[in-house]
Amino acid sequence: MSRYWSDHVSGLSPYVPGEQPKKEQLIKLNTNEHAFGPSPKVFEAIQANLNDQLRLYPQPGSDALVQAISACHGVGRDQVFVGNSSDEVLAHLFNALFRKADKPLWLPDITYSFYKTYCKFYDIEPHFVSLDEQLQINATDYHEAQLNGAGGIIFANPNAPTGHYLTLDKITRILALNPAIPVVVDEAYINFGAQSALNLLQEHENLVVVHTLSKGYALAGLRVGYALASAEIVAGLQRVKDSFNSYPLDRLAQAGAVAALNDSDYYDKTNAAIIENRDYLTQALSACDFEVLPSMANFVFARPRWSSAKAVFDTLREQGILVRFFDQPRINEFLRITVGNKAECEALITAIKAQKTK
Ligand SMILES: *Cc1c(COP(=O)(O)O)cnc(C)c1O
Repeated sequence: MSRYWSDHVSGLSPYVPGEQPKKEQLIKLNTNEHAFGPSPKVFEAIQANLNDQLRLYPQPGSDALVQAISACHGVGRDQVFVGNSSDEVLAHLFNALFRKADKPLWLPDITYSFYKTYCKFYDIEPHFVSLDEQLQINATDYHEAQLNGAGGIIFANPNAPTGHYLTLDKITRILALNPAIPVVVDEAYINFGAQSALNLLQEHENLVVVHTLSKGYALAGLRVGYALASAEIVAGLQRVKDSFNSYPLDRLAQAGAVAALNDSDYYDKTNAAIIENRDYLTQALSACDFEVLPSMANFVFARPRWSSAKAVFDTLREQGILVRFFDQPRINEFLRITVGNKAECEALITAIKAQKTK
């Protein structure tokens, strides 16, 4: 608390990101960064833009990037909204679409925790819909959202931190039954095997699909995210963005992102390798007596049957391996473990075996 703060600041509940260790040589499996580096073409593109042009503001509309995204997904340029990370895009979405008096936002009780932070920030009332016993979203729970006065719906698909995903037929039903309210599908982990909802954009003007280059394109450090939606929704987002920051993406980020989106060969290969490692990790953890939820993301959500999750988390840290533990009802017996490269996955399994024989 400070007497200098605006009134609402003391009431905020800021998002707490996973630890970014400063010096220690830790194996980092806690924030779902990509196990392999970005495409070499990204480095070339950034190098090529290290010149006197940095003196100039970037294009406010990030035109080249918008063009690349529109070509990559086969949607109109007026259906693309880019931002400095998908967190920023999500913040603008909450601001532009969900601030409706007396109309709560419907979202899963267990999902990306930043949504709750934005609700507080923008004074949006959350209406939490429980995941089922298997920690899956029950799509039918959202069928009557609009009928029951919801102002909007948001969920991550695949969901975080569970890794479960909803099939497109279920998402289609949610969209069709809630035509008057926006439905945001956060596809941060879409590049690891699940099917994107973006083919539903044509038919459903209420759909917003959010992507990031942080996970599937190994560019968490570049901070690039985007939303795909009807031109009508994108126009609202632009109004909000242009009331906040005209130039959210710097020249280097725009150049690197375009190069990444144009190198699908590279990412098809590295993402396939992650899926392979995910299968290995799932099997090896199961063999170590973990319950492992089936995952479509670059992490697994796993519960040790032989110990508390917190104890395993603490001991792994002492062993030099960082994973993520959420001290929250329903999920505090689980660990979220990023799928690393093969050596990292093996080091994790070795450490767990050492814990069990101690
Ligand atoms: C990582 C993540 C994001 C944020 O991605 P950035 O583009 O790095 O801000 C958004 N949503 C979900 C579900 C995530 O896991």
